[in-house]
Amino acid sequence: MKSIENAELKNKKVIIRVDYNVPLNENLEITDDNRIKESLKTINYCITHEAKIILLSHLGKVKEEKDLKTKSLRVVAKRLSELIKSPVTFIPKTRGIEVENAINNMKNGDIVMLENTRFEDLDGKKESGNNQELAKYWASLGDIFINDAFGTAHRAHASNVGIASNIKESYLGFLVLKEIENLSKVTNNPKKPFIVILGGAKVHDKIGTIENLIKKADYILVGGAMAYTFLYAKGLNIGKSLIDEDSLLFCQNLLKTTDKLILPIDHVVGESVNSKTKCVKTQLENNDMGLDIGPKTRELFKSYLKNSKTIFWNGPLGYTENKIFEEGTREIAKFISNLNTTSIVGGGDTAAVIINMGYAKKFTHISTGGGASLELIEGKELPGINI
Ligand code: AMP
Repeated sequence: MKSIENAELKNKKVIIRVDYNVPLNENLEITDDNRIKESLKTINYCITHEAKIILLSHLGKVKEEKDLKTKSLRVVAKRLSELIKSPVTFIPKTRGIEVENAINNMKNGDIVMLENTRFEDLDGKKESGNNQELAKYWASLGDIFINDAFGTAHRAHASNVGIASNIKESYLGFLVLKEIENLSKVTNNPKKPFIVILGGAKVHDKIGTIENLIKKADYILVGGAMAYTFLYAKGLNIGKSLIDEDSLLFCQNLLKTTDKLILPIDHVVGESVNSKTKCVKTQLENNDMGLDIGPKTRELFKSYLKNSKTIFWNGPLGYTENKIFEEGTREIAKFISNLNTTSIVGGGDTAAVIINMGYAKKFTHISTGGGASLELIEGKELPGINI
């Protein structure tokens, strides 16, 4: 593993690929700056080691001209400057003379941030397609490359793999190293009992994870909409609950071959995701939509979690966008936060929910990468790490 600590940074122009893909509200304000905070260690290290720092990141998907207005990194540069207590020069371009002049005028410890790398996607998906002309250009702006964007490490884009393959020296930043170290507590001989919690909506996205973890885990507790595909596969009435049709056969086969899957025994139901009322049921009727795990299920899940030595959690246990269906997720998060166990959260929606609920500090690790953490746990090699 090529750690940043092996790099000779002094006087060098260091390109750092960070993950500033942060959520913005309709007023283009940052609603969760965790990813910016998580990048500070690497940037501060480069400042202390007298490097010139060039930051690259993507923000959301850029498909149409109008995205150029709503997906600018300017707001992120401002927030970073406040957090790091140093000026950050934002260049509203991804290439060209303005970029080159700004970089040529840098002194040691200066920070320059370029515009959203995916602005290059408007012209033939140059960033996401790892266009070599673009990758070579970005690589030419610096002496050393550091990848610290864990959230995109499962993708081979011009701003990570592309730069790495066109520059002399590439290293991994502290955030990526921390992610690998913590997620390996799940992938490499997790301490037993090892309990996995899976929720969210799509079984399909998590089939690889389930196949891998079912061999290692003692039990997999299934909640969220995902549970209804399994319950339907068992022949139960799931009313109007969400179902992932494409994964039905997978669920049926899995249920036949393992008794490690623990499914909900009661449900908080409403008439739709926007429901203003709720009730608890053990069996769903045709008009019911299961939107959270019920109180008996919470107790059942806790009975498996209480003696665990390792927990991996991906996916909310209910439709947490509607406050009245977040209780199951909250109760389980609170319970885990008081356990003496290794607790790892695999990014995405679950991370945001746990951070917003205020339990983040009590977890061992909350990953900054949803897709990347799942692929790592599936046992795949991530191109952004193998640089
Ligand atoms: P995923 O991307 O597959 O992890 O799914 C996350 C989404 O699943 C979030 O938007 C959750 O609100 C949603 N979700 C969780 N439980 C349910 C449920 N019972 N019914 C509908 N959506 C749910």
